[in-house]
Amino acid sequence: MARPRDFQKKRVYLAEWEVRVQDFRSLAETLEWADRVIRSEWWRRNVGREVRFVPPHGNRRKRATCWLGRICLPNQSWAFSRLVVLHELAHIVAGSWARHGERFTGAMLMLVEEFMGRGWMLRLKRAYDRNGVKYGIV
Ligand SMILES: [Zn+2]
Repeated sequence: MARPRDFQKKRVYLAEWEVRVQDFRSLAETLEWADRVIRSEWWRRNVGREVRFVPPHGNRRKRATCWLGRICLPNQSWAFSRLVVLHELAHIVAGSWARHGERFTGAMLMLVEEFMGRGWMLRLKRAYDRNGVKYGIV
């Protein structure tokens, strides 16, 4: 049986939703933290790709998106979260062709450990395990 193109997207979302908390009070505060990540020495050394956070286009955009090095977070409280920021950045690290596969989740775990700490990384890993999400090495 051929597996669908983005075979574990739903499970990744479910797992991350279990772990996600609202860390910030506003989109501006969220983007301030995101900026610190992409300006960090770690990002420059290990990723090196330029990323831009672009403002949501009107309030009709409800999802977080990432395309061609541009990330757009919606002005919605669920997105005021370090995990949501790192999810979009993991797409940059893994490459868009990786979708939500093992390479993506491997990148996600690496970013969470680096920018949120080992405890959060282990929490996310357990949630991935509970939901049958596969993760690999970047
Ligand atoms: Zn995604």
